[in-house]
Amino acid sequence: MKIEKAKEILKNSKNVAVLTGAGISAESGIPTFRGEGGYWRNYRSEDLATPEAFSRDPQLVWSWYEMRRGVCLNAQPNPGHKIIAEMENYYPEFLVITQNVDGLHARAGNKKLLQIHGDIFTSRCTDCMTIEHFDEHPLSTNPPLCPSCGGLLRPHIVWFGEAYFPGMIDKCLNFLKSVDTICIIGTSGQVSVPVQLAEYAISQGAKSIEINPSTSTLTELVDIALQAPAGEILPKIWDK
Ligand code: NAD
Ligand code: ZN
Repeated sequence: MKIEKAKEILKNSKNVAVLTGAGISAESGIPTFRGEGGYWRNYRSEDLATPEAFSRDPQLVWSWYEMRRGVCLNAQPNPGHKIIAEMENYYPEFLVITQNVDGLHARAGNKKLLQIHGDIFTSRCTDCMTIEHFDEHPLSTNPPLCPSCGGLLRPHIVWFGEAYFPGMIDKCLNFLKSVDTICIIGTSGQVSVPVQLAEYAISQGAKSIEINPSTSTLTELVDIALQAPAGEILPKIWDK
C-alpha cells in the first residue's frame, strides 16, 4: 500500500527535503494560483505577478498584494504545515524549499526554510534597494514609499519572468545533491525552476514522494504519488 511505502521511506531517511507549493496552504484558506478561486477582480493572478504589471500600474499590484496579505494574516498553519515542522525536529539534515510567500511554514515552526519566491511581508525599494519587513495592513499610502529615500516600494517577491535572488538556487542544489528523500507537496509543476530542483534531487538518487490531490508535471517521475490533500495525508504517513 502506498501509505505504508511512504512511511517506510520516511523512516529510513536521515536527510530530507520538502518542496512545497501553494497547495500546502490551500487547507489554511489561501487560494492557489491555478486552482479554483484563483481570480481577483477579473485579473488573472499570473498577470499581476509580473514586473510589467508593476510598471504599468503599481497601485493595482499593491492592491492585489494588500488583499493577499490580509488573507495570509487571517490564515493559520494547517496540520500539513505542522507535520513539516515536526519533521525538521526529527531529521538530522532537513530543508523546506517553498514557492509560497505566505509565511505559514515559519509560523508553524520551520527554521530550515528557503522561501525561493520571496515573502509577502517583505518589501524592497526600487531606488535604494533596501529590503525590509513590511506588514502594513491596510496600506497607509498606495503605492507605499521607502522610509529612507522616498522611492517606490515593491513586494520582495520573485515575479514571473524575473531572476531568482542571488545564491538562492545554489543553496537549494547544495542541499539536494545528497538528500535521501524529497517530498513534493502541493505544486502543479508549472513553474520550471522548482521542477528542475525536484528532478535534480531525483537524478542524484533521492527517493520521491508527491502529495497532491491532482496530478502534476512531476507525478510520472516520483516513486510514490499520494493523491489526497496534504493536511489529510501527512498526519497518516508521519507517526514519529
Ligand atoms: P499552483 O497554484 O500552480 O498549484 C497548486 C497545486 O496544489 C495544484 O497542483 C493543486 O492540485 C495542489 N493542491 C490543491 N489543494 C491541495 C491540498 N490540499 N494539498 C496538496 N496539494 C493541493 O501552485 P504552485 O505550483 O505553487 O505555483 C504557483 C506560484 O504562485 C508559486 O510560484 C507561488 O510563489 C505562488 N503562490 C503562492 C501562494 C502562497 O504563498 N500560499 C499562493 C498562490 C500562489
Ligand atoms: Zn529607498
